[in-house]
Amino acid sequence: MAAERPHVLTAARLWAPMMEALHGAFVVHERTHQTDPADFARIAPQVRAIAATGESRVDRDLIASLPALELISVFGVGYDGIDVAAARERGVAVTHTPNVLNDEVADLALGLLLAVARRIPQADRWVREGRWRREGPMPLARRLSGGRLGIVGLGRIGQAIAKRAEAFGMSIAYTARSRKDAEGYAYFPSAEALAREVDFLVVITPGGAGTRKLIDARVLEALGPQGYLVNVARGSVVDEAALIEALREKRIAGAGLDVFEDEPNVPEALTALDNVVLTPHVGSATWQTRRAMMDLAFGNLQAHFAGRPLLSPVPEMRT
Ligand code: NAP
Repeated sequence: MAAERPHVLTAARLWAPMMEALHGAFVVHERTHQTDPADFARIAPQVRAIAATGESRVDRDLIASLPALELISVFGVGYDGIDVAAARERGVAVTHTPNVLNDEVADLALGLLLAVARRIPQADRWVREGRWRREGPMPLARRLSGGRLGIVGLGRIGQAIAKRAEAFGMSIAYTARSRKDAEGYAYFPSAEALAREVDFLVVITPGGAGTRKLIDARVLEALGPQGYLVNVARGSVVDEAALIEALREKRIAGAGLDVFEDEPNVPEALTALDNVVLTPHVGSATWQTRRAMMDLAFGNLQAHFAGRPLLSPVPEMRT
């Protein structure tokens, strides 16, 4: 008799093709811990892997309730919702999908920079609402090319953003936990010091406790009334209340935001503002990149259950 297929619990709503792949290879329990506690108690002893997204919550209690758990495969590069320390204590491996989404997220960061500086969504509305016809040309915007860019987090994606910004003739400065060997990029020891020296500040660090509200009122003050903020990292990295106040009082010029503190709930105070461009966490959201992420996330599950080395484990030091 063939061995039973491994049981996998999903910890979030996953992309439909990923669900299809999971159903083809495993016995899948779709968020049973959230939807059906009685059934969860029954199936929990059999669950050997969790398929999660970067934002799904896999906490110490959930890990403790799964005695046969061996692997948590994250569909995404960020894993701030996963209690990696609790997983490690139990000998549970954690994998994620780095690199395959660098270009996509960097493209969106440049898109948001252009959108917020050149007011592209506002320009679209100007045409649609007939204001061009009634009122004439729209007010002038801000130039991006040749501007001073500050990158908070010069990691895989941060470097892809820098490369694109070079093509726009921008000067590049950054902050990170450690200084990089990045010729021509000026290093600043803090986000506040960096913000003071740039026109555009792009945030692309991981989320989690280490970066919570890293971009606070002081950093926004340092960015100043001519400065723009773009956040493609995690909502938790920016103090959203302080940002709303700074935008409302024009203490910064504008913001382009792909991520929010309490997704998918975006405060009305933000949607009411004209100097922001908002996107619904779509940094990696193209068919091509989601497919590559799926290949990696699913590939990690396959490798694990075939006894092969994992393709992309979360690094040891990054808990
Ligand atoms: P990465 O290669 O690990 O780079 C992270 C960078 O952040 C590193 O340079 C790191 O510094 C820096 N950093 C970490 N903590 C910091 C702190 N407290 N202060 C200043 N800098 C700090 O990660 P990645 O692959 O570029 O991804 C970055 C993040 O992007 C992910 O974790 C995820 O949250 C987010 N993301 C968002 C989307 C989206 O859809 N919007 C998509 C993908 C990823 P060191 O180099 O010195 O360690």
